[in-house]
Amino acid sequence: GYYPKDSRLSIAVNNAANRIFSMGQSSHRLGDFNTAMTYYKMLLIENKVDSQLRNVVSRYNVLAENGSKLLTVSGYVSNSKKASTASKSWNIALEGKLVFPNSSNINNAVEDAAQRLLKLARSYQRSGNKSGALTYYNMIINENAVLNDTKDLAHMYSKQLLSNFIPTVYIDPGHGGSDPGAQSSNVTEASLNLSTANYLKNYLESKGYNVVMSRNSNNFLSLAERAQEANELKVDAFVSIHYNAMGIPNSTASGIETYIYHRVASGFGQENNRDNFNTDNSRINESLLLADKTHANLISSTGLYNRGVKGNNFHVVRETNIPAVLYELGFMDNATELAKIRTSQYQKTAAQAIGKGIVQYFNQLK
Ligand SMILES: [Zn+2]
Repeated sequence: GYYPKDSRLSIAVNNAANRIFSMGQSSHRLGDFNTAMTYYKMLLIENKVDSQLRNVVSRYNVLAENGSKLLTVSGYVSNSKKASTASKSWNIALEGKLVFPNSSNINNAVEDAAQRLLKLARSYQRSGNKSGALTYYNMIINENAVLNDTKDLAHMYSKQLLSNFIPTVYIDPGHGGSDPGAQSSNVTEASLNLSTANYLKNYLESKGYNVVMSRNSNNFLSLAERAQEANELKVDAFVSIHYNAMGIPNSTASGIETYIYHRVASGFGQENNRDNFNTDNSRINESLLLADKTHANLISSTGLYNRGVKGNNFHVVRETNIPAVLYELGFMDNATELAKIRTSQYQKTAAQAIGKGIVQYFNQLK
């Protein structure tokens, strides 16, 4: 107080402050919250203490006020992971964020907890508990510690709760222009994809949906452009239309397979075991729900062989921040199958099967 400009005394004040802070933390670790708060408050009311230190102390003081013990980074991470409810997991992760604001492990725990909350909220939404769902979506939207992609997802889910909500579906006919995709007997995959996608567009528009097409003609688009546009437009679902080919002579491979994003350990390759899909992640979980509904319709209405719903590291299902599904609607290099899938009758049937599944998916969210 006598020598306010003397830097040696500022250093002495902050050294003493750090000792007081340590005393507070010791009591706090032992669960003696009142003593901890007494030390913390000594620092919080003293403006000669460095403001950065006081910011840190104020976060610890919030925890002591809440009766929350101090843990290590790994303590917060493991307690958040094994918490019995999504809300507890979320609160523990956020406490960890208060104590360790720059820890990437804590940031990951916050994200994991946010995903748990999103999944729970989504199930509330499906069972008609709209206010419960909205509460969780808003918790995520309003929390700075959460990644923007996760907040965007929460925002999209909450928008779907509105009574006047109309889904917007991004339809991506694969390939096009300089990239014809698979080719067989003078038929290009790009043209089959576009024709099928147009039938799907018509079906969804007849149901009152908004549709955005990645391409309306035979032009080239990179994979990145497709995913990016869907993300920027904040659409409600992304579906990519493809036809298959084995790429070997006299192939007899046949049937329909439907993909969601999954990365196998080696990077590229398909995952056929759905137990391995990362459904802890809300976007992946929603992608699987959408894939299952549409795929079941495809098999029952086309009668084609069921190759299943699979996971793969395809660009457009990986880089989209929204539920995303990619369809392989039959094999072009199987002569028997090509004769069927090149007909407009087949393409219309397949498109409507997908469209009906999409409508079923969104109707469950009302
Ligand atoms: Zn393709």
